[in-house]
Amino acid sequence: MENLSAFKVAQKQLEQCAKILNLDSDLVKILQVPKRELHASLSIRMDDGSIKVFPAFRVQHNDARGPTKGGIRFHPDETIDTIRALAAWMTWKCALMDLPLGGAKGGVICDPKQMSKGELERLSRAYIDQIWQLIGPEKDVPAPDVYTDPQIMAWMMDEYSKIVGSNQFGVITGKPICLGGSFSREDATARGGLYTIREAVMDSEIELKEATVAIQGYGNAGYFAASLMRSVSGSKIVAVSDSKGGIYNKEGFDAVKVLDHKKKTQSVSTFPNAKQISNEELLELDVDILVVAGLENVITQKNASKIHAKIIAELANGPTTPEADAILDKNGIHVIPDILCNAGGVIVSYLEMVQNSYRYTWGESDVHKCLDEKMTTAYHSTWHTSKREGINMRQAAYVIAVKRVVEAMKMRGWI
Ligand code: GLU
Repeated sequence: MENLSAFKVAQKQLEQCAKILNLDSDLVKILQVPKRELHASLSIRMDDGSIKVFPAFRVQHNDARGPTKGGIRFHPDETIDTIRALAAWMTWKCALMDLPLGGAKGGVICDPKQMSKGELERLSRAYIDQIWQLIGPEKDVPAPDVYTDPQIMAWMMDEYSKIVGSNQFGVITGKPICLGGSFSREDATARGGLYTIREAVMDSEIELKEATVAIQGYGNAGYFAASLMRSVSGSKIVAVSDSKGGIYNKEGFDAVKVLDHKKKTQSVSTFPNAKQISNEELLELDVDILVVAGLENVITQKNASKIHAKIIAELANGPTTPEADAILDKNGIHVIPDILCNAGGVIVSYLEMVQNSYRYTWGESDVHKCLDEKMTTAYHSTWHTSKREGINMRQAAYVIAVKRVVEAMKMRGWI
């Protein structure tokens, strides 16, 4: 059963939920697969004059509740299977947050770390040239994800606007603020996660001010989690890691200094005055809170029983396999599941969509207030459903989300 692909994991999670809800098997058939997917080949002129061809995808899982929404990943190990899983998780995430949106995801198989700025721009524009008919403010709205950023969103928005012949800021979110981007979109995933951790801690003996935290993954979500957990909550970040390895210091790290080091050396793993540890060792540390902020399938049957953290906050998408879930449950570890914990990104994306359609800009404190309200409400409804039904937090989150999507499908007459 282990070594499941991310898509199989997503299907298995839905299967479990369908059993709890006693869902009609025809409905499950529809929800198990994406509604639509596009495969493309992007041919780019590289700086050395050669042509390279990059496989690319856009997958739309379900749009019963509104236009589909979800990020674009640029990653060398990207697969269509992972994108399918991520698109489905977006459907459940948006429904759990009660956003009027469906789920989608996109990806390009490439190594952005090895590409120049010009090559990245050409790749971003070529991606839009291939998918533009599928997307639009009322159809499908992409956003940043692994290794894509506001600059890439700006190029993509510009390319789409050129093709359709008018400024279409609302076609993509996560843009720079000068192009209709939202305040706090960059730290939204981590900030939203922090709100759920704050709520989770209230049910435990942990004091956030004294809490020890380990963070696996030091990209956008991991860095902002470290920074906010230290500056806002006063917690101690005793360990962080990235794909090359991790570091530990019981006195805690300064998030910005670690980020500066990563920018200079490409990794956190050689940060001075720290013990070098592996990613596996980081996961097993005796800390209060473990934040997983990297890629999928990190907590598995192999390591789940060695996890000592009291709370796991899933800022990554799909970090835990179903087998690992069962072990974490048995060991009484409180998991804040991905579709709840990392929904801050898409909530602020939604605010960005609304502000673009109204040509309006909310201030930072309005964004934080709305984000906090949505995250806190979703946390408590998930927690109450979990207690009431005697199911874990992930199953509870799925139950709420799937019920909402199914209701919309039924009302539209799709089933
Ligand atoms: N990529 C983020 C996610 O996985 C945000 C998606 C969005 O803002 O549309 O939730």
